[in-house]
Amino acid sequence: MRTNILVQYHGGGYDGCFWEWNYFYIDKQGTFHDIQSSGRAGIDNMQDAQELINKDERHTYIYDMSSEQDIETFCKESNAVHVTGVLQWFEDNPDTGIEFFVVCSACGCKMTDCSEIILSDDKLLCSECYAIGSCSCCESYVGDIEIVKVEPDEHYGYDYICSDCKEYHAEERDEQNSDGNYDIASI
Ligand SMILES: [Zn+2]
Ligand SMILES: [Zn+2]
Repeated sequence: MRTNILVQYHGGGYDGCFWEWNYFYIDKQGTFHDIQSSGRAGIDNMQDAQELINKDERHTYIYDMSSEQDIETFCKESNAVHVTGVLQWFEDNPDTGIEFFVVCSACGCKMTDCSEIILSDDKLLCSECYAIGSCSCCESYVGDIEIVKVEPDEHYGYDYICSDCKEYHAEERDEQNSDGNYDIASI
């Protein structure tokens, strides 16, 4: 029997065909832990867990928790909210002795503490990347390559904003200018 594995599978199954990702963990001693199970396909005991693993289904992913590589893969391939949920579970269950971590989607640094993570859309970000890649004007995370330096006078006092905001402000100015020209011309 495989131990110290995190298993991600298709659970759910309310009223027919809806599924959602569910998770369980089999610790180093071979004890089953239900992290998240839902619906009819949810698994909450060892026997069903073993059956699922033996079935070797396409939608069942098994991650070895003693492998950093596997933890990283899990972080990259899974929904950010779920990844944070699994980290939270390992945080709440320190007896497992697993040093679970989450990888920042931008710089790849490892975060071991749920409170360090900032969720933005489907990205897991460290506070540093979030600070560098966020536009203070529209308050959204766009990634550091989208942030440009601008003239504060022309951009409501901001000196770093996203390229969308920059463009938007430029259009606003153009409109104002063309209105002005029109007024002058009509006099
Ligand atoms: Zn980062
Ligand atoms: Zn912006």
